[in-house]
Amino acid sequence: MAGKFVINLHRFEPAPIVKDTKPLLQSTEFPPIRRETVETLQLNLGYLCNLSCIHCHVAAGPKRTELMSRSTMATALEVADRFQVRTLDLTGGSPEMNPDFGWLVEQARARGLHVMDRLNPTIMEEPGYEWVGDFLAEHQVEAIASLPCYSRANVDAQRGNGVFEASITALQRLNRLGYGKPGSGLTLNLVYNPLGPVLPPDQRKLEADYKEFLGDAFGLVFNRLFTITNMPIQRFGAILLSKGQFADYMTLLKNAYEPGNLKSVMCRSLISVDYLGRVHDCDFNQMLGLPLGGAKKPVELAQLLRSDDLPRAIGVADHCFGCTAGQGSSCGGALSS
Ligand code: SF4
Ligand code: SF4
Repeated sequence: MAGKFVINLHRFEPAPIVKDTKPLLQSTEFPPIRRETVETLQLNLGYLCNLSCIHCHVAAGPKRTELMSRSTMATALEVADRFQVRTLDLTGGSPEMNPDFGWLVEQARARGLHVMDRLNPTIMEEPGYEWVGDFLAEHQVEAIASLPCYSRANVDAQRGNGVFEASITALQRLNRLGYGKPGSGLTLNLVYNPLGPVLPPDQRKLEADYKEFLGDAFGLVFNRLFTITNMPIQRFGAILLSKGQFADYMTLLKNAYEPGNLKSVMCRSLISVDYLGRVHDCDFNQMLGLPLGGAKKPVELAQLLRSDDLPRAIGVADHCFGCTAGQGSSCGGALSS
């Protein structure tokens, strides 16, 4: 699976995670929150990715082998039916690297589900993945593409040499397919996250800057920019610990706490499923191994098929302050923007 960008990443390949922030997060004063109607089923199709970004909270990379099976995907679709979930949100790794990605999208679209693909656009430039753009357009999948900055130097520093150029080429290809263009029905949203232990800037202002710069320099158009706060977990958490910045970053998140964001944190309307079919309150809890609803034992997708309702309880820990700091943060960007 190693593609041309993996070669570029050798100087950049992050060290394996040797320090885990989970024990430092579990005692918390974050307020209790309850789930409402679940609108989105988020599936992590696996940790395989052609990149190994510094900030990655999944610690994804080209050497990861964990992938969701087709039978787990089928159970997830049954759960979507049972609880009348309207949106399937596909994430990874690079979701398109799962061999059953195409099957899942076709099944979901045939059921009338809205499908979102969180793609790292460089995958479209990897040999063997040239089909991705056409396939997404054909099935009217919403594309949510990561582009952590509009500066070539910053993107390459975070993601590896050559990643900025490959991302721009891929986004231009999506534009040619109609993505981001008015009236096409094909939505292209971009995702920004900070390079280091700071909060994202104002989403609306940054979106305007992205649109101006990417439009002028590359003729690119897109719908929305989502700013996402880095979570103090997994690879980013380990970097904070190794640099002695973990405590300061937690203080930053807690000092910026905005209670108004509690009403729209994403776990209130979403559940997240890992590659083995275990269910969590969100992608971040999934990465910390915290089961759905704060349960002591893993909760399997198949168990939900025997339930009348989804748990209302949500398992919180100190990393939740990453969702409520400042303008707030979620898979759909700022909460108060
Ligand atoms: S942040 Fe995205 S593109 Fe980067 S390694 Fe993680 S999953 Fe891959
Ligand atoms: S980290 Fe997850 S559980 Fe905590 S507030 Fe954010 S979305 Fe909810």
